[in-house]
Amino acid sequence: MAKQTKYIYFFGNKKADGKAEMKNLLGGKGANLAEMVNIGLPVPAGFTITTEVCTSYYKNNKKYPKELKLQMLAALKKVETTMGAKFGDAKNPLLVSVRSGARASMPGMMETILNVGLNDVTREALIAKTGNPRFVYDSHRRLIQMYSDVVMEKAAGIEPEEGKGVRQQLEGELQKMKTARGAHSDTDLTADDLKELIETYKAKVQEVLNKPFPEDPMEQLWGAVAAVFQSWMGRRAISYRRFEGIPDDWGTAVNVQSMVFGNMGESSATGVAFTRNPATGENYFYGEWLTNAQGEDVVAGTRTPNPINEHGKSEHTEHLTSLEVGMPTTYKQLHNIQRLLEKHYHDMLDIEFTIQEGKLYMLQCRVGKRNGPAAVRMALDMYKEKLITKEDAVMRVQPSQLDELLHPIIDPSAEKTSKVIAKGLPAGPGGATGQVVFSAADAVAWQKEGKKVILVREETNPEDIEGMRAAEAVLTGRGGMTSHAALVARGWGKCCIVGAGTIKINYHEKYFTSGEVTVKEGDWLTLNGSKGVVYEGELPMKKAAEENPDFAAFMKICDQIKKLKIRTNADTPEDAARARVFGAEGIGLFRTEHMFYGKHSEEPLFKLRKMIVSKTEAERRSALDEIFPFAKASIKGALEAMDGYGVTIRTLDPPLHEFVPTRMEEREKLASSLGISLDELNKRAEAIHENNPMMGHRGVRLGITYPEVTEMQVRAIFEATAELLKEGKKPFPEIMIPVTCTVNEIKNQNEIINKVHTEVAEKFGLKKISHLTGTMIEIPRAALTANKIADVAQFFSFGTNDLTQMGFGFSRDDIGSFLPDYLEKKILPEDPFQSIDQEGIGELMKIAVERGRATRPDLKIGICGEHGGEPVSVEFCHNIGLNYVSCSPYRVPIARLAAARAVVKELSTAKVKKTKPAHKSIKKVDAKRRNK
Ligand code: PEP
Ligand code: MG
Repeated sequence: MAKQTKYIYFFGNKKADGKAEMKNLLGGKGANLAEMVNIGLPVPAGFTITTEVCTSYYKNNKKYPKELKLQMLAALKKVETTMGAKFGDAKNPLLVSVRSGARASMPGMMETILNVGLNDVTREALIAKTGNPRFVYDSHRRLIQMYSDVVMEKAAGIEPEEGKGVRQQLEGELQKMKTARGAHSDTDLTADDLKELIETYKAKVQEVLNKPFPEDPMEQLWGAVAAVFQSWMGRRAISYRRFEGIPDDWGTAVNVQSMVFGNMGESSATGVAFTRNPATGENYFYGEWLTNAQGEDVVAGTRTPNPINEHGKSEHTEHLTSLEVGMPTTYKQLHNIQRLLEKHYHDMLDIEFTIQEGKLYMLQCRVGKRNGPAAVRMALDMYKEKLITKEDAVMRVQPSQLDELLHPIIDPSAEKTSKVIAKGLPAGPGGATGQVVFSAADAVAWQKEGKKVILVREETNPEDIEGMRAAEAVLTGRGGMTSHAALVARGWGKCCIVGAGTIKINYHEKYFTSGEVTVKEGDWLTLNGSKGVVYEGELPMKKAAEENPDFAAFMKICDQIKKLKIRTNADTPEDAARARVFGAEGIGLFRTEHMFYGKHSEEPLFKLRKMIVSKTEAERRSALDEIFPFAKASIKGALEAMDGYGVTIRTLDPPLHEFVPTRMEEREKLASSLGISLDELNKRAEAIHENNPMMGHRGVRLGITYPEVTEMQVRAIFEATAELLKEGKKPFPEIMIPVTCTVNEIKNQNEIINKVHTEVAEKFGLKKISHLTGTMIEIPRAALTANKIADVAQFFSFGTNDLTQMGFGFSRDDIGSFLPDYLEKKILPEDPFQSIDQEGIGELMKIAVERGRATRPDLKIGICGEHGGEPVSVEFCHNIGLNYVSCSPYRVPIARLAAARAVVKELSTAKVKKTKPAHKSIKKVDAKRRNK
């Protein structure tokens, strides 16, 4: 008989069928429960239904594999034996929880159902067993509340009107009873109250959903399992996956586990904790707990929980009892477990625990989400503690997380003088400013209009996810540091404040009050998510990274590993200086035309215009003479700012007609300075008009038609360099010819460059002026003929903006009109102007690298298109053997990290494959590119 597929993995009694490495099959939660059992931690017994069941369920019209039922009954038996209780038994009943658990953690996006197995019969048995009727009735009413919402309503596809869902209606009944009894909190209700409430709940369920609440424990269990699978395709889970790039076909596992109770009285409790602080990275046990509660109370943000230890107290939680003080022995045990777990996993973990009448149980552990600043600090600390290697450290920080460190904080001087209107828990650090909105839908809509918004809610629930994403920051009136709002915001590196208790929101009229202050929809607010402080108005922001010592130390580790050099695209000395602070090792693209845009450009621009509309060479040369000092000064500034590093200076690139003035008075001024009539000027302007300028008279084509234009620029480069050399500096220019399609263009330009080089060297009494001459590869033909081009070019730089434009035939300026359809209809996986299309454009790049280096093995190759700062593209550039990437100054640190991660990934793939690298040429250049 063929072996049956194993769909169920048991854990308990110090032995588990699974282990931590089996995340794909058991989901993160299931794999880690198994691992905790294997290392001897106290985990209530249970079993995991594999992710394969979920995938098969969706493939087979929501039907389970036929072996599942028997396997599940067998596993349940084992759990019963381990726990010494029986599911559905009238004397000694076992209750279970049913929870989702995908490969990647998706906090709050899928369903959980607790206390499954309770009905009128089992509950009486449980009362007899525990002697605690209040707790049992409370558990029963919670089951009805959760189950009717998740299984009977959501999983059944019922979409009630806002506020009419069964859960809210049951909440309403609970509130009614609390009011009638004068109870402040749920715990003030007596056993009899809760017993009565259960009957009210059942009647309400029948009324709202037209079905009785199921009494059969097995029916409850299968219903709960199906609801978890259903929730994988729930709207909020789908949108979360889209944001996080999690594939739909991974599926979720389901964990069925014996219940332990944190709500059995004052010696029972539940909590969520992190082995280190996930918001700051501080190496200190950090968490929250609540007595007499179940897990949902902590994460749902309905009660503001207590800090786990004294160290974690803030001014907002000072008055609350910590677990360290309230239950010192249990705290000590938990503290030891969390240390053990961190040592075992070599990472920061997020753990969930329950204390049932003084006895501690571990319910979950997983690698904890953290924001950028915390990720950097933890990686660095753990490396110093020898818990992880250098290579692990760079893999612990996502490039996008590094981006968070470069994000703004509130300008401290402005903060000092501003009015604080509310305080809450600092759930996601950094600063943010924006206009207030009160619903997730408004946050999305306003952001689409280009507005910056702050989403303000009483509490957020997972349905708000798209609004949270769209908002600059999130502010809530309730909830703790481990509430969903806090977790999700932190995962995204978003500024977030939760539990700002003074905030009272009127959703209907769209305003909130905090003390005396009223803030209306559209008003500006500024949040300091590191301190948990809310200010009225729009405060100025400041970049933070330069002031963070961890950042600098972490970047050093990246530099020790990476092989790619990281240059910057900089057009001004200020940009160059900033990029150096961020670690740039040279300029990969200095666009000379920049001096004709932006600040102080009127004079050189006027002279350029004269040059453009010149008719004769003499006219043009005289205009070029006037431009020369400006060109030289701007080039000299860049070389000086990057002293000691290479600076790639590109000759004039854009179509000239872009510079012709359109306003009449400017045309008149230009005509008179040239001594010609306005009519004549208009004629000349008309003559250079082009239908398709991006493919017209631009780049090297200008230098071919007007050699004197190249001559002037090259002279400016050499003279600037010679002057700096005389001043004792170390300038190193690399002259780059743009928009090349044939080797002959470069040969032609090289003649000019060589001639001017000799002249300037002579003029300054120098033997030679060290430099390189090379070209951009941004036209497919240039890539294909790279072997010939490399004959005369000493370096290549991929202009992937144009290469993508010309390779796809997509205008880089007009793609916006059709790209959204291409993405939505999955014709393209992503915008090829953001991340290199490896299949097509990347192939052109590979060909150019291989062919270019076949001619000139030491050919230096880089990239200066926008892709040079995008992490996936940087990894690709590493893999195809480039020497450097060049990107805008703020992306330099991200590129440094991405380059280091590319090396680590390459090493680990090589280890797995144990074969030679695919590109032999890459190996050869490795040693060389380090020195470029
Ligand atoms: C490119 O085409 O990738 C490039 C860097 O040049 P530009 O964007 O200036 O055309
Ligand atoms: Mg270009």
